[in-house]
Amino acid sequence: MPIRFFVVFLMFALCLCAPKYTLASHTLNYFKTSTVTEESGDEVFRIEIGMSGKDVKYETIVKPYLKTRLAVRLKDTEPGKLDRIINVKNPLVNKIKVQEVGEKLTQIAVELNEDLTDNYKVYTMERDKRAKKPYRLVIDIKKPVKKQKATIEGIKGRAVVLDPGHGGSDSGAIGPSGARECDVALSVSLKVRDILTSNGASVRMTRETDKDVYGWNATAPQELRARVNVGNYAPETDIFVSVHCNAFASPTAHGMETYYFATSSKGKKLASLINEELAAAGGLTNRGVKTANFYVIKNSDKPATLLELAFITNPREEELLTDEDYQNKLAEAIVKGIARYFSE
Ligand SMILES: [Zn+2]
Repeated sequence: MPIRFFVVFLMFALCLCAPKYTLASHTLNYFKTSTVTEESGDEVFRIEIGMSGKDVKYETIVKPYLKTRLAVRLKDTEPGKLDRIINVKNPLVNKIKVQEVGEKLTQIAVELNEDLTDNYKVYTMERDKRAKKPYRLVIDIKKPVKKQKATIEGIKGRAVVLDPGHGGSDSGAIGPSGARECDVALSVSLKVRDILTSNGASVRMTRETDKDVYGWNATAPQELRARVNVGNYAPETDIFVSVHCNAFASPTAHGMETYYFATSSKGKKLASLINEELAAAGGLTNRGVKTANFYVIKNSDKPATLLELAFITNPREEELLTDEDYQNKLAEAIVKGIARYFSE
């Protein structure tokens, strides 16, 4: 064999025997963070990671149990000379880690200060010669927009008296698991108060804590008179709303109902509108809008209603009545009914 051919053969053989090693298509070589204002006016924290080559394939991972970490895995990529841990001074992002998590598999892990799962965007950008930026992966993290609850129309400037039933020496009815009517009534009423006041109404409460309104161990007439007086003695009062839970000997009794005093057409309107809203939001059997001679609605100078939110003596309804989310639903429904009363 002529020596020339032998050399060529040798080189060929060497190539076959050499370990197969090829370079990754991408090596990270650029890093920049900035705060960018988008056309929509939203502020975005932008992470740009540049690399050699283009058309990088990547995968974005947010684990359901670790929603404060946004990981982007770049295939066929080596981390290059980028710092492995980059601390960031930003309210949204704490640090960024550059990790080799597999063969030619580089992960950019963005550690967020809060769950921003719905607020990020990952994409690539072409090389920008003028800005001296290479082909790059971009991670945009948007500041979450604090959803401001829409104002409820019709409430502003109105004066509402809220009367959480019972309290103090009188717990009201007690459920099979021990929930007390006075506590549920107070809790829901306080939620109603907060929504009303945040929408510009002024609210007076007959009680804001677990107490008798008239005094410890007052007689029923003293106690109820004291409650009605809160509304009657404040001439600006527009409406009086008393909040209760129903009770019955049989645990199967269930549902919601609202009351007004028979001769009060405005009371009827108020009771009807709150009834509609409670039925829609609470989903319980609607026992209807009824008349009754309950002291507080009979003796209120102002349009008044008494609400029986549900049966605290019914195990299922007792559970709902003590549930924070359910209480919020009921409170919102009561406020909607009140708003409709003033605007319809
Ligand atoms: Zn009651």
